[in-house]
Amino acid sequence: MCPGKAIYDIILSVMESTDDRSYADKMDAQEERHEALCRRCGICCGATGEDPCESLVRSSDGRYTCAVYTDRLGPRTTRRGAIFACVTIRDVHKHGVYYPDCAYNPSQGGIA
Ligand code: SF4
Ligand code: SF4
Repeated sequence: MCPGKAIYDIILSVMESTDDRSYADKMDAQEERHEALCRRCGICCGATGEDPCESLVRSSDGRYTCAVYTDRLGPRTTRRGAIFACVTIRDVHKHGVYYPDCAYNPSQGGIA
């Protein structure tokens, strides 16, 4: 291989890894903006119902968080022991279910 080609390959690989990093950074920033939209009302986790998810936690400011958020998707249990599937809000919308004041509702300009 001529030295010129070797240098070209190194530059290309640095550019590609920079592109990958920049793409990953963009995706992270987009994810963060998306997550920040949530009003933490807890309605999608049953906060206003009789049998909410057992992982739903009410903070002192009245907002809700999920105790297992990064690992939340899949089978979950309500406080009374019923099993259900935790899915993304996007998947909830796919089934035609929209929570009235949810920040991700298309009617609220949401981007779920
Ligand atoms: S596991 Fe799912 S349904 Fe339960 S609190 Fe977390 S996000 Fe809500
Ligand atoms: S209903 Fe919407 S705004 Fe409220 S906690 Fe669920 S995702 Fe967030």
